[in-house]
Amino acid sequence: MSPATLLMEATYLVASILFILGLKAMSHPDTARRGMFYAEAGMAAAIIGTLIGQHIVTWVWIVAGLLLGSAIGAWMGITVPMTAMPQRTALSHAFGAMAAALVGIAEFNVHAAEMSVFTRGALGFEVMLGALTTTGSLIAAGKLQGVIKGTPVQFKGQQVLNALIGLGMVGCFVTFWINPAILVAFYTMVGLALAFGVMMVIPIGSADMPVVMSLLNSYAGLAATATGFVLGNNVLIIAGTLDGFSGLILSILMCKAMNRSITNVLFGGFGATVAEASSNAGGTMREIPLDDAAIQLAYAKRVIFVPGYGLATAQAQHAVRELAELLEERGVTVKYAIHPVAGRMPGHMNVLLAEANVPYSALYEMDQINPEFPETDVVVVIGANDVVNPDARDNPKSLIAGMPILEVDLAKSVIVLKRGQGRGFSGLENPLFFKERTRMLYGDAKGTLNLLVKAVEQS
Ligand code: NAP
Repeated sequence: MSPATLLMEATYLVASILFILGLKAMSHPDTARRGMFYAEAGMAAAIIGTLIGQHIVTWVWIVAGLLLGSAIGAWMGITVPMTAMPQRTALSHAFGAMAAALVGIAEFNVHAAEMSVFTRGALGFEVMLGALTTTGSLIAAGKLQGVIKGTPVQFKGQQVLNALIGLGMVGCFVTFWINPAILVAFYTMVGLALAFGVMMVIPIGSADMPVVMSLLNSYAGLAATATGFVLGNNVLIIAGTLDGFSGLILSILMCKAMNRSITNVLFGGFGATVAEASSNAGGTMREIPLDDAAIQLAYAKRVIFVPGYGLATAQAQHAVRELAELLEERGVTVKYAIHPVAGRMPGHMNVLLAEANVPYSALYEMDQINPEFPETDVVVVIGANDVVNPDARDNPKSLIAGMPILEVDLAKSVIVLKRGQGRGFSGLENPLFFKERTRMLYGDAKGTLNLLVKAVEQS
């Protein structure tokens, strides 16, 4: 082994260790920022390692790619708002997968004839997964951004058509694997994989996109692993496998928190039929005047804030922190209850509240906080709906039956901040809003919280 190769492999080892440390640190909000730095340093080490090993085309292309990529990445990082993060992530997956697919196609064109059977198999896998992840992620980004209709697109015979495209794709893969001279099989596989990505994602509603994205993330990771085998690049194999499996684990955890199966997410067309779903809701929703809400809060002993998707759309994270601090100055004990799938992406609430400098020690996970609700004077639900829907616990016929919820209905008093009669992601009515101890405070969450701050200051 030449000294350059030895140095390259050592750098790859350092990069891989940094990726693992990064993933570990990202498992807790306290250390997540550090985790990102580890991962960035790992990526820099991997790039430096590749340059040392001189597995490169020309310096001009490398520098041009680095400059262009860094500029686009920095621009996206600075300008994209937190609420658009899911679609931004989907775009990143599309680019990563496209890179893997293009590398595979280039390798096939240059080296197909002299490749071993194993390498050719890995290459087919890389291009197939890369191509379907590219189009799947682009559709996911389009749905989340609202450029493409977010509701599930379903038609008769859809699953049969998908199965035929899938079978055709695998058939072409096997054909060129056996005989690389049949170029048409390879390119037909690329075309079918691109179509499969589209067909796989259009039947899924935009609200289920985060689960689909983490699944696509896992495909992009596995495509990178295959690229690593094709190029004989160890760091790609390790990083791709970490990415692939962490994406898969995340998809499973998200499905668990929503009490859904992966197959239900992928084939269920959630959001298409909810209007007929059964609900225990009925009666009247009672409003509370702002000043009464402020007095309840100002004279409470214990208050719990429950943020949801509405907090994100209203960008009310700074306003809620301000109100919390004001209450704490008055001797009120304030906590935040965080549901694992509140909002539209994993950790959505944690990220928003961290941005507003809410201390991590004030955030409580569902299992920790649920026993505290009966002892709580006032719960303020800020743009959350499904994650506090008691039907999930009480109504076995509900579409979300069995989904673990924050049991806010057990508190002494509940104030719900929302704009009107809008439903949550599931489209279900929420019986919490009709309960005796619940009061509605209508308006945009940020505006209402700002008004509450003023009213508490005066009470
Ligand atoms: P939700 O059920 O989607 O409800 C959000 C509520 O916020 C709506 O009822 C809406 O009512 C209100 N709202 C919207 N904009 C608002 C504003 N500017 N000010 C005040 N209120 C506003 O939200 P959630 O309780 O957080 O539940 C999340 C849902 O997403 C769950 O069903 C979960 O399964 C699903 N999901 C989450 C993830 C994830 O990773 N977090 C992934 C996939 C799916 P109005 O229109 O009346 O204001």
